[in-house]
Amino acid sequence: MRKLELHWQILIGMLLGILFGFAMTQVTWGIDFVSDWIQPLGTIFVKLLKLIAIPLILASLVKGISDLKDISKFKNIGLRTIGTYIVTTVVAITIGLLLVNVIKPGNGISEETVTKLTDTYAGDVGVTSKLEEASRQKESGPLQFLIDMVPDNAFSAMSDNALMLQVIFFAIILAISMLLIGEKSAKPLKDFFDSLNDVVLKMVDLIMLTAPYAVFALLAGVVVSSSDPDLLLALLKYAGVVVLGLFLMIVFYSVVVTAYTKKNPFWFLKEMSPAQLLAFSTSSSAATLPVTMERVEEHIGVDKEVSSFVLPVGATINMDGTSLYQGVAAVFISQALGFDLTFSGQLTIILTALLASIGSAAVPGAGMVMLVIVLESIGFPSDKLAIGLALIFAVDRPLDMCRTIVNVTGDAMVSMVVAKSVGKLGDPHVEDWDDHLDQVKGS
Ligand code: ASP
Repeated sequence: MRKLELHWQILIGMLLGILFGFAMTQVTWGIDFVSDWIQPLGTIFVKLLKLIAIPLILASLVKGISDLKDISKFKNIGLRTIGTYIVTTVVAITIGLLLVNVIKPGNGISEETVTKLTDTYAGDVGVTSKLEEASRQKESGPLQFLIDMVPDNAFSAMSDNALMLQVIFFAIILAISMLLIGEKSAKPLKDFFDSLNDVVLKMVDLIMLTAPYAVFALLAGVVVSSSDPDLLLALLKYAGVVVLGLFLMIVFYSVVVTAYTKKNPFWFLKEMSPAQLLAFSTSSSAATLPVTMERVEEHIGVDKEVSSFVLPVGATINMDGTSLYQGVAAVFISQALGFDLTFSGQLTIILTALLASIGSAAVPGAGMVMLVIVLESIGFPSDKLAIGLALIFAVDRPLDMCRTIVNVTGDAMVSMVVAKSVGKLGDPHVEDWDDHLDQVKGS
């Protein structure tokens, strides 16, 4: 029998997980059962993906750059990547702002709903921890992000997933120095990283074998810990605007893929779908990164020279879905609480949401921390920040899941565009986990 394609397997796992989660909320012991016995399986899966993220970035970036025959190509790829990321993010924020200003989801929110949401969430640790985190980030100087990018200890950088940019920095100077010492002297190190890269990609294949079961566990966990359905309903219009904006971003990516790379956008979305479904299930572009890299290189045909740089950098600094959401949320909160937002305030949102998307960590809920900074930049009263966040907190997790899909798809699209522009978009070459199994299997 032909095996079901991976994205179908994952989708079925997700649907069953949602149904199972709902069923468990109906029995008294259900919620504890899911959090004690089911959710840990999802957590293990996410940990496994994170486990290989740093070795994968290091190996693939060193391999990608040290394969370059001409070092100036790297500068070319770097500039195009950053430029395209800025353009897609500005497009995302603009779409978000247009929608929220036209549909005005905040105007219909009743006083009663505001009070109910405030009472439920303003003192919630979820909200207060986001505010604390934001004030910590705000205290740093304007060039702090550059300082943070440079490691003072390569090994401690590699020991913390939050320091991905430091690992990228280290990998880039390591690889450039390898090019500069000449092919012969660099060969042992290059062989080592080439082989490490193949091994880690094989690990991605192995971990993905468990993906359909893991998403079952992850989604069952999300369902049992989700908020009161009445509150979700009150925020339906706001959530609808965010989701519509995210959908339009996917349409925008599809148009760019068709127009610029001349590839079929449905093919692109289908090949990327396992990464998108994982982005949805894990709410983390960093955890999804190994799968995004595998899909883009093996299934889309982007050369490693491009993907090894574009994707890890994108996972950390390019978040189109997050910045679109920040634009919509900032205006929605202002509308609902009657805070007057001027046109120049809206332009400020474009700028700060762009910077916020660079500063947001690629982990669940990070977008909301930076939203505080966006709100403050438009002069939103600081004593009302907790109320503002409380308004949108109930739907934040489902929206986080959706915006992470866009974050990951945007990175993949940009890697295709940059690859095409430097002649590095080739044919797919898919590797399966068991390609060499025969050689190591006893008779
Ligand atoms: N969860 C998002 C990501 O990992 C970030 C956010 O929007 O909160 O891409």
